[in-house]
Amino acid sequence: MATNRTFTMIKPDAVGNGHMGSILNDIISAGFKIKAMKYIQLSQAQAEGFYAIHRERPFFKDLVSFMISGPIVAAILEKDNAVEDFRKLIGATDPSKAEEGTIRRKYAKSIDANAVHGSDSDENAEIEGNYFFSQFERF
Ligand code: ATP
Ligand code: MG
Repeated sequence: MATNRTFTMIKPDAVGNGHMGSILNDIISAGFKIKAMKYIQLSQAQAEGFYAIHRERPFFKDLVSFMISGPIVAAILEKDNAVEDFRKLIGATDPSKAEEGTIRRKYAKSIDANAVHGSDSDENAEIEGNYFFSQFERF
């Protein structure tokens, strides 16, 4: 059964290009409630740990260096059917294939600098939220 939480990051490209406020506004306007949030710059070890599932992929090294290249916003979001609805809101991984009106279509330039992350399953939403936030940092 779908749970009501997902995890997101606003990636360094979007923060650096000044889209943090607009993206948060789109997320909140779409009905997501922010249950935890922090503005941080990841260390190499933190980024490698987060993307461990992609360790063998050819783009892993570039992905990690991109994710540590500047600050990010990490957040836990709540809404009915959160994981699926948030993936719809952000659009396809490659922004050129993302639907009109989606966050990646509006704010991302390429598949490797694609503005936002969204968990791909309830299980990963839980794991990813726990990776970034202690029980005292969420409500
Ligand atoms: P995310 O996990 O960031 O929400 P996603 O679930 O749409 O994105 P994944 O397959 O999990 O896509 O890939 C993680 C990230 O790795 C992508 O957001 C993208 O930046 C990068 N990536 C994925 N595929 C490629 C690729 N073919 N070339 C370059 N980078 C890629
Ligand atoms: Mg993914």
